[in-house]
Amino acid sequence: MKNAILRTAANVRAITGVECDEAWVAVPDGGEPVLYTDFRYIPMVHRVAPGLKVRDVKRMKSDLVRMWGGKGASSRRIGFEKAISVAEFEKLKKILPRAKFEDVTRDLAKRRAVKTPAEIERMRAAVRLNDEIWRDASRRFKAGMTEREMAGVIRSMMFERGEGEAFSTIVCVGANAAECHHVPDDTAWDGKSPVLVDMGVKLDGYCSDMTRNLLPKRPSPMYRKIYALVLEANLAAIAAVKPGVSGKALDKVARDVIAKGGFGKCFGHSLGHGVGLEVHEAPNASKKSDWILKPGMFVTIEPGIYLEGNLGVRIEDLVLVTETGCEVLTKSAK
Ligand code: ZN
Ligand code: ZN
Repeated sequence: MKNAILRTAANVRAITGVECDEAWVAVPDGGEPVLYTDFRYIPMVHRVAPGLKVRDVKRMKSDLVRMWGGKGASSRRIGFEKAISVAEFEKLKKILPRAKFEDVTRDLAKRRAVKTPAEIERMRAAVRLNDEIWRDASRRFKAGMTEREMAGVIRSMMFERGEGEAFSTIVCVGANAAECHHVPDDTAWDGKSPVLVDMGVKLDGYCSDMTRNLLPKRPSPMYRKIYALVLEANLAAIAAVKPGVSGKALDKVARDVIAKGGFGKCFGHSLGHGVGLEVHEAPNASKKSDWILKPGMFVTIEPGIYLEGNLGVRIEDLVLVTETGCEVLTKSAK
């Protein structure tokens, strides 16, 4: 890697193996990365990555000046992530006023998008655990439970069996499912209405992501129609996954199915996204995506239809791009 300074937890982890929200990593051209953090995290870093160079963040300024501020400073390019705050970026520019800062966010995303065999195994384990938690948690759902209580059942299993939630679990009873990212509230389940659950457990640093629907006891003709259409879009997109296909083309496969069914305007989000150390990472599958699928990439396939005040259906699977097509890792029934 070229000169770079990393800040986001996922890239810090990808380069050093250390999970820490309060760290900086300086990567000198061809040299060893140095992790900077404060007193609170240093013992953890020593334990997790004994071979890694770790320095108190108080020394970062003088280290950066010594490393990159001297001879050749004005012709030196230093990569940074655009996710850093404006204040942090201003500080870096003050420390290294002559350096040319270059946004390397996309290069970093590219490095992480194709997973190594070891990462693929970790992803498999995270998805498997997510399936198990869905099976066990949904069996404990009873009429009278609120969305918050159902989310609580899932959340506690995620902490007991994995490293907790990859993102805040979404549980939507009935019409609440029309809000794609509904925050679980005190709405109680009557045992008959549909329930949409979007959940992902983190295991060994890697995330999973899945959406399933508990079907209504007596589905209305509209619910039947919408569910069938979303499932058709989900299956059509899965069948289209293979190396060389763009994220844009993949998105279109599902979007066309839903548009043909007459609900194009009710599928307002993109088809899917990559998953790994972060729950949303490259490659994305959207109307504008220029990512090209390659073996070893993971992508979610999550079409949805939302009718405000009425119902919402989303079906989300996590698939691994293989040499010839894809493997659907999510095994929960749909
Ligand atoms: Zn999801
Ligand atoms: Zn997702």
